[in-house]
Amino acid sequence: MSTVQALQNALLKARNSGQKVGFVPTMGALHDGHLSLVARARAACDVVVVSIFVNPTQFNNPQDLETYPRQVETDVALLAPTGVDFVFTPTIAEMYTPDEVVEDTDYGVLTHSLEGAFRPGHFNGVVAIVRKLFQAVQPNRAFFGEKDFQQLAILQELGRREFPALEVIGCPIIREPEGLAMSSRNALLSDQERQVALAISRTLFAAAARAAHDPPGAVRDWAWAQLTSAQGVDPEYVELVSRSTLEPTKQWKDADPAILLTAAQVGPVRLIDNCQVPSAAELRAIGEHWHPAEAQIG
Ligand code: AMP
Repeated sequence: MSTVQALQNALLKARNSGQKVGFVPTMGALHDGHLSLVARARAACDVVVVSIFVNPTQFNNPQDLETYPRQVETDVALLAPTGVDFVFTPTIAEMYTPDEVVEDTDYGVLTHSLEGAFRPGHFNGVVAIVRKLFQAVQPNRAFFGEKDFQQLAILQELGRREFPALEVIGCPIIREPEGLAMSSRNALLSDQERQVALAISRTLFAAAARAAHDPPGAVRDWAWAQLTSAQGVDPEYVELVSRSTLEPTKQWKDADPAILLTAAQVGPVRLIDNCQVPSAAELRAIGEHWHPAEAQIG
């Protein structure tokens, strides 16, 4: 269905009978990463809504918006066996008034660091559309991938501020067998570029493993050096930050574990990826056999 009114009518019965509504917002070109969120929602909720909407206001690069993969019919077919109840596919006119100006979102470091610094306006567009979608769907739980870790942190903050009854749930990154984080934009990579892109996840995993014996600055600098010297990879940033505040990690702290995030251009595509760096306490809990690649590929 493609209108807010039709969706709300369809959800009325479920809501009135106290059923829990789970929501998975996507931009389509679905892959196993998206389907993992749908599976989590299916397991945790009575009714599951998936939206497919390529949100123009979050694209700071017009070329990226133009080339973004679109395949709604294939997506609907991929969703059929997952037990999704409703697929919401609004038009731009359904979500935005003509000439609507998206307001700025200022959550401090959460919105202004990392992707916020390199993609001006991007998170304004993300927050604008997710707020509208939350208002339309009125879910009890919403599911987002840790692949977009900063986005998840921002949407958890949006939930705390504006939708206090909503649970915003993060789900682990799903990767290709060789480690590349699944992404709709991967479809735009040639076979050779896909091979080149493997340097990103390999570097993050290897850097995270170095945290066991190196200080944060050395880990970050090592990862940056690896990525800048990888042929065909053009990194924008590599940063080690707190998983909760996104403030730079200056020293390892059990109570404030870190995450290593990067964005890098490979061929025509800007890729992002991240790897949580186990704290000493987490390493003790998981045991000495932990290895980031094993922990994250699967
Ligand atoms: P997108 O369609 O790229 O806007 O993504 C929709 C949702 O799927 C977001 O919450 C993403 O974080 C999540 N997602 C995208 N790729 C992955 C992945 N490889 N693993 C887990 N979640 C993902």
